[in-house]
Amino acid sequence: MKGIKIPPEHPRAESLRIRERLIEHFSEGVVATAGLIAHGRGEAFDYLVGERTTKPALNAIKAAASALLTAEKPVVSVNGNTATLVAEEIVKLASVTKARIEVNLFYRSVERELAIKELLEKAGAHEILGVGKNASAKIPELGSERRRVDPQGILLADVVLVPLEDGDRTEALVKMGKKVIAIDLNPLSRTAQKATITIVDNVVRAMPKLVEIAEKLKHDVKKCREILSNFDNEKNLAESISLIKESLSKLAESGDYLTLEDEEL
Ligand code: ATP
Repeated sequence: MKGIKIPPEHPRAESLRIRERLIEHFSEGVVATAGLIAHGRGEAFDYLVGERTTKPALNAIKAAASALLTAEKPVVSVNGNTATLVAEEIVKLASVTKARIEVNLFYRSVERELAIKELLEKAGAHEILGVGKNASAKIPELGSERRRVDPQGILLADVVLVPLEDGDRTEALVKMGKKVIAIDLNPLSRTAQKATITIVDNVVRAMPKLVEIAEKLKHDVKKCREILSNFDNEKNLAESISLIKESLSKLAESGDYLTLEDEEL
């Protein structure tokens, strides 16, 4: 790492390393300025969920793996933050679920698209959609550069995984009849509220877990369908919000956040 040296014994060493990685990739043009601000929002919500994969998050991850595995044309949509944080997991997930990978940016520029493509290729990806002229189709209802998608990818997809997406595009994709899977630490964001399956977890924890569960379920279509028919996103999202409320109540009672017990998964 080119940035500051983080002492391994620092109590928040991992969180600091992630910040540094984002800053470094911001300097290289992969991460947008607003991506840094979005990360700060994510970190704040991560405190509130206890910086762990909660039970509702795990349920949503199982449903997400099932939706991707049973999809006809699954696509993983990638922006600068996700490419920086979980490039290898994106490639692994695409391989297990036979999904295509598409660069899809709020702040589009050919330079950023190419920088993200390069990062994904270094992580082992062979085909990246949505770069340059290939992002020639448009999502109805959205203005400017934000609406551009690849006619071979998101436009045709039936299931789209959109880690760290914004609410407008999530809503527009749902209106186009697609199942949208969001990974978003903020359960109150419009993305979280509008997605078909909402994983309220940090993308750095959720993606490896999603790969692991997809590996386990990949030959069991029956089980995938069963998981999907038992999954209720609204109820699950409400549980994520309740968990935050309960954690805050415990904190208010004990005055010591760090002693909060991990729940049984
Ligand atoms: P919306 O438009 O959905 O209401 P927004 O304007 O905050 O929300 P974005 O700017 O695209 O949308 O924000 C990205 C979202 O990603 C935020 O809700 C933020 O909490 C979340 N986020 C940021 N970093 C992470 C991360 N590492 N893991 C999971 N979620 C994250």
